[in-house]
Amino acid sequence: MNAHARARWMSGPVLRARCSSPFCLREAVLVGPLGLLGEVVRIDHDEIMVQVYEDTSGLRPDVDIVGTGGPLAVPLGPALLGGMFDGLLRPLGRTDDPYIHPGGARAEANTTLFQFEPLIAAGVNVQAGQQIGRARAGNGPWQRVLSPPDVSGKLLQIALAGAYPDDLPLAEIDRGAQGVRAVALREYWPVRTPRPVRRRLPVDAPLITGQRILDSLFPIAQGGKAAIPGGFGTGKTVLLEALARGCSADVIIYLGCGERGNEIAGVLEEFPQLIDPRSGRSLMERTVIIANTSNMPVAAREASIYTAVTVAEHFRDQGLHVALMADSTSRWAEALREVSGRFGELPGEGGYPAYLASRLADFYERAARVETLDGSMGSVTLIGAISPPSGDLSEPVTTHTKRYVRAFWTLDARRAQARFYPAVHPLQSYSESAQDFADWWGQQGNDRWWPLRKRFLALLEEQARLQRMARIIGKDALPPRQQLLLLSAELLDEGFLRQSAFSALDRVCSPAKQGAMMQIIARWMDLAELAVGRGVPLALIAALPSVRALKRMGEDIDDQQMERFKTLQTRLEGEFAALAGSAQGGQNAPATAG
Ligand code: ADP
Repeated sequence: MNAHARARWMSGPVLRARCSSPFCLREAVLVGPLGLLGEVVRIDHDEIMVQVYEDTSGLRPDVDIVGTGGPLAVPLGPALLGGMFDGLLRPLGRTDDPYIHPGGARAEANTTLFQFEPLIAAGVNVQAGQQIGRARAGNGPWQRVLSPPDVSGKLLQIALAGAYPDDLPLAEIDRGAQGVRAVALREYWPVRTPRPVRRRLPVDAPLITGQRILDSLFPIAQGGKAAIPGGFGTGKTVLLEALARGCSADVIIYLGCGERGNEIAGVLEEFPQLIDPRSGRSLMERTVIIANTSNMPVAAREASIYTAVTVAEHFRDQGLHVALMADSTSRWAEALREVSGRFGELPGEGGYPAYLASRLADFYERAARVETLDGSMGSVTLIGAISPPSGDLSEPVTTHTKRYVRAFWTLDARRAQARFYPAVHPLQSYSESAQDFADWWGQQGNDRWWPLRKRFLALLEEQARLQRMARIIGKDALPPRQQLLLLSAELLDEGFLRQSAFSALDRVCSPAKQGAMMQIIARWMDLAELAVGRGVPLALIAALPSVRALKRMGEDIDDQQMERFKTLQTRLEGEFAALAGSAQGGQNAPATAG
């Protein structure tokens, strides 16, 4: 018998109700005649507080609330890949009817057929999370069909290869005393419960993002977590899209959590047009978009972050590497604040509820590299944008997030204003995992990655100090070595850290190209230091054609033409040799910097 209550009070998406039978905390409920989806968030004697995930306008305050007997769960299965969904994983953007109707999720008839192939025969014992078959939508990639993570036993029967709707039971597993469990392609999983794994593995490889400043200076682990704080217009969305396109994950989950509908509309329009550099086809084929449309109530935004990470875990369990981009976690935290305010909870710092930190932790804790229940390796990497009001990084969402992430990529308004993209500030960003990846870079043929990274970071720090000094005494008053340092830092900035998301050739940079670029810049710096040591005037060094070539190499040299870095190096060695020759010949008249 399902629990029952009658509402007595409501305010926007939250309502209070008197129960005639007991509910469980976090039980999913259906509200009113339309069966709007909600969740019990507090129980006080015979009263429950419910947050409703759908539009409550028009509801009468005495509506009936019926328990579902289980927690808020979302449908997982082969229909997800390539799709766009709302925060409760209901498909968006159907051409015949673009709106999701209240209570519509449960009424939806399923007509799509998926190809299914069994991979084991009836009669064998199946472990929880074991692969029993594979399925795909149309010509899409094959996806593993697993026994649910909490279901094991003897496989009584399994469907023959064929085309089936995803809600049709295709296998039956005898769980002994717990009875027989039918398994369909579409299986529900409670969003707030992390999906079980065999074990968490240490992280030892980076998730390659294709962005030089991130991979080379502030890398994120595969299975790691990063935050991108940045004020309005600093490039968060463009960077997240660049990461979605260029990162080394197999599956991308993009969570759009905007305050304005047009932000989300932009994502929904732009994403399907992105081309996957791996396949040359649409990136959507390996992407799932979860978006809170502007007509969705605020409580659904709160749930969507867990929905998204649950979907990410679903693909991870298939032995895939998944990257989840959340844009932005600040909007999610604001939803938390609004709902908490309506419940009359005591506000904490910045008006956010006291549990803001633990909710952020619940989310970021789900990033991991794991051995799945069937012994494969998979990972979930979480990257969350933060939009701190007025770019203030001491506000609560940013400071709490900082405690849980290991890579922190601060977008700087000044760099963005100067159209220096990605506007990641090299001195206000960090990665706590960087040293773990030195071996990985060594295996890629770049065994100098760690010392070069240290050298570049030290240079950038020194650049900031010297720039301050130059503002006071003038650049020309600095000794030649310090002027060279400023020139080298400028070369590093322009030639390496700058990378346009809109350049077809440079928007994604491979580790091999990054390694070659790091090495050639370091070589230039070594030669320039030697030259200055020999008394070559800085103006001559600044005017070398190789400076220009190095500044443009990202845009000029394709990943497929790595031999051109050798040619470039030979060229710059020659230029410095000529410079040394002419310096010795006494023809070191100053030239104008080009
Ligand atoms: P935010 O999401 O932080 O408000 P956007 O991502 O929308 O900011 O970026 C604002 C604008 O900055 C973009 O429309 C684009 O013109 C420019 N921009 C941002 N990042 C880059 C980039 N990596 N390369 C080139 N241009 C960029």
